[in-house]
Amino acid sequence: MDRHNAKQIEYLNSPITILKGIGSKKASLYSKLGITTIWDLVYYFPSGYEDRRIVRRINECQIGEMCCIKIRPLRQIVERRLKPKLSLFLLYGTDGFENVTIKWFSAPYAKPTIKSGHIYTIYGALTSQNGKKEFDMHYIEDSAEKKYTECIVPTYHATSGLTTKTICETVSVALDSLEILSECIPDHILKKYNLVPVLDAVKKMHRPESFEDLKNARDRLAFEELFVLTLALSSVKGRRKEKKGVIIKAADNIREFAKRLPFELTDGQKETINDICRDLKNGIPMNRLVQGDVGCGKTVVAAAVMYACSKSGYQSAFMAPTEILAQQHYKTLKNLFGDEVRIALYTSSVKGKNKISEDISQGVYDIIVGTHALIENNVKFSNLALCITDEQHRFGVNQRALLGAKGESPHILVMSATPIPRTLSLILYGDLDISVIKSMPKGRQKILTYHIDEKTKNRAYGFLKTEVEKKHQCYIVCPLVEDSETIDASSVESMISSLKNGVYSDLRVGYVHGKMKSDEKDTVMNSFKSGELDILISTTVIEVGVDVPNATVMLIENAERFGLSQLHQLRGRVGRGDEQSYCILVSDCKTENCRERMKIMTQTDDGFVIAQKDMELRGSGQFFGTRQHGVPELKIANLFSDAHILQKAVESANEIILNDPELSSYEMVDIKNRIRDLFDKFDGNDIFN
Ligand code: ADP
Ligand code: MG
Repeated sequence: MDRHNAKQIEYLNSPITILKGIGSKKASLYSKLGITTIWDLVYYFPSGYEDRRIVRRINECQIGEMCCIKIRPLRQIVERRLKPKLSLFLLYGTDGFENVTIKWFSAPYAKPTIKSGHIYTIYGALTSQNGKKEFDMHYIEDSAEKKYTECIVPTYHATSGLTTKTICETVSVALDSLEILSECIPDHILKKYNLVPVLDAVKKMHRPESFEDLKNARDRLAFEELFVLTLALSSVKGRRKEKKGVIIKAADNIREFAKRLPFELTDGQKETINDICRDLKNGIPMNRLVQGDVGCGKTVVAAAVMYACSKSGYQSAFMAPTEILAQQHYKTLKNLFGDEVRIALYTSSVKGKNKISEDISQGVYDIIVGTHALIENNVKFSNLALCITDEQHRFGVNQRALLGAKGESPHILVMSATPIPRTLSLILYGDLDISVIKSMPKGRQKILTYHIDEKTKNRAYGFLKTEVEKKHQCYIVCPLVEDSETIDASSVESMISSLKNGVYSDLRVGYVHGKMKSDEKDTVMNSFKSGELDILISTTVIEVGVDVPNATVMLIENAERFGLSQLHQLRGRVGRGDEQSYCILVSDCKTENCRERMKIMTQTDDGFVIAQKDMELRGSGQFFGTRQHGVPELKIANLFSDAHILQKAVESANEIILNDPELSSYEMVDIKNRIRDLFDKFDGNDIFN
């Protein structure tokens, strides 16, 4: 590294207090925005831009349109004190053709000084008050300055005590001393995709001369972000390849298993099982995602593989996100295998946990079904060769890894019903191979979905009754367990009291929610499953996985409170048998967004389309906000709108991995540091185990 470079690195790592005008007080405000070093500051990109390039004559301005005008003041500023800390200012001036009153509200001390004979550039919008033109001022400066007018001006997310303008000035000062930034994208890739150099890009993000500049800068930085992320995920995958996986010859056992099933496997299930069998015998630990819409039959795939595994003398772990689901899987497997396979249930509330975990470690059980409890420290396996995570989107990368760490590079299978657009799966599951189950079991009918308002609800309750008369069962889902003073939404408790004592007085109504003890939940779920209950009133504890094929109606109260993917999951609780099923969304939508969601639900049952729309409506930022997917937050790239950039980034990353899987060449030094930073910043360290 040459000395020049070293000096720059030192500069970038310096605290911002080395900049003129930044004392400890300012610095603490900046730290609220996550900015402590010069590096943080120059990578703190604007949240938006104002196009202040155009200067207009007053008679060229459209009402309401933001633009600049140039004014010669005709009088001094008039101030009207409205409150102790708020004044209305009026400035009367001319643009040489027409006179106008310029108006703004601000704190009294913020009154600008007007020098006679000077021309001022003012950014704002023309308004019309009773036919009289006025100009709403947002910013004013001496025309000689041209600092924040006649150009594109960035705006930053600010914080109290720190304005966007102050940030802009501080960034400018920092950028002035910034001469180089290390380039982490190899030259030939920069050339191939015509990417601007990193220093240019960073500077242009803060001070673009044109919107084309800005787009080039942004695209380049988005590329970089996605490129680094893809390499990071590939490097995880690469590492797995180095490890040895237990060889399991599964095909014969699975064929035998399939013969015993009461149904024929679908093509999608067969293809997926084939993929898995190939993985299991090639000596490298499997790392596969099975993606298939709700109801396509993923459980039986998992069962088949676990069966084969037990026949080869190894243990499997099957982890589900809720106790209800773990219970259900346990029973399904018990039914399928009887005493032939030894199965344990391990959740935090299961009785005799110590004995069970002791037995697991002694190899008494072949298949262990459970919840997060499985990844607790005290759970040890004797020869764990296969880990399956159901409803993977409910777990982070980290949890998936923790389960995997329970064995010696066991085979990993994750299953998800939340279909993910290809762009997203590249990022989320870039380190996984994917099998998609596209087909649904034979005889399934399309679920009919309706959106109704609160007024029509009673009729819907009546409809549920007619379904019960046909010996079908129904779900009613509410957002709350009990009524709340602050949230205006239906609760399980109020529903029970009104329905059980009302329209459903002659029906068998049960309820389940997260505040109940697990054996209570279990009892209720069992009676619903065995047909002893007609109607189950519930919270979203039944959102994922629950499988009662005889249920034909899903009625969702206050449907506006649920996201699209969640509604789709809930809807997936019905339509699991041959009968026509229905989903009824009850909501007096108050927002356009809500109406849009309801419309999408009634128009499509394609989980892929729904996931895509969900992202569009929520924005990918929020999609990742919870970090539940275990992916570091992206600062610039948007997985939805930058799909074309992602494609290129992935191609480039793959090319690099192909030639240099260890990223050992000199060119990769910076990338490796970036990857380390990336994983340090989120809790996915263990994936390198
Ligand atoms: P999901 O993919 O949502 O986890 P499940 O595994 O719960 O779906 O399966 C949904 C229902 O479909 C279950 O009742 C299951 O027994 C049934 N099923 C699975 N595969 C088939 C098939 N090939 N033919 C008929 N029914 C099937
Ligand atoms: Mg499932």
